[in-house]
Amino acid sequence: MVDYKVVRSSRRRFSSSISVTTEKGVVVSVPKWVSLGVIEDMVREKADWIAKALARLGGVHPQSKKRFVDGEKHLYFGEEYPLVVVPFTGIATARLAFQNGSFEAKVPGHHLPIQQRKDLKEAMLRWYLDNGKRIITQKVNHFTKLLGVSYNRIVLKQVSSIWGSCSRKNNLNFNRKLIMAPHQVVDYVVIHEVCHLVHHHHRKVFWDLVKSLEPNYKEHILWLKKNQYLLTI
Ligand SMILES: [Zn+2]
Repeated sequence: MVDYKVVRSSRRRFSSSISVTTEKGVVVSVPKWVSLGVIEDMVREKADWIAKALARLGGVHPQSKKRFVDGEKHLYFGEEYPLVVVPFTGIATARLAFQNGSFEAKVPGHHLPIQQRKDLKEAMLRWYLDNGKRIITQKVNHFTKLLGVSYNRIVLKQVSSIWGSCSRKNNLNFNRKLIMAPHQVVDYVVIHEVCHLVHHHHRKVFWDLVKSLEPNYKEHILWLKKNQYLLTI
């Protein structure tokens, strides 16, 4: 039998389900009164499906935390670039620039390592948000123009469990982690949300429109499932 985690809910109308992700592995979600025997039966019944899902995702990879030290690699649109840390006197907080194929960070020379990590993490987050918003906006403008539709505004979410969403008011929201994924994958997420400006649902006409802009969209959905554990900061 495979390893799995059990998450119990006290919500009244909670229905049981099994999910398989690269980050959390196999998770069985059940109402809190369900017995262990019943849970084991659920897992046994779904064993083939679970094995196939794990194989498709290439196994389980817990997320690794970034340390923000000199030489550590960070992703930017699917490519890894080293972080170069240079202690500097006369500055109060870290300054980050992306140049010559690396993230160059000037850090206050007097900071302790723990302060430096916190400071650098904040500088990287800011950098990802600013650049992510700029580039995703360019992509959104490109595809909305192609479809002849308009949107209200774009928000890059600091924390989000989904890659993108489109509200009834035509606000487009994106997960800031997308800026670490390859361009084609980001394009797919942008196309998906821009197509929601035309169809606010996931019926066939919606997927046909997505496909007309990106015939290989299924590859990108799988890429995100397989690699989301890499997109960390
Ligand atoms: Zn959607």
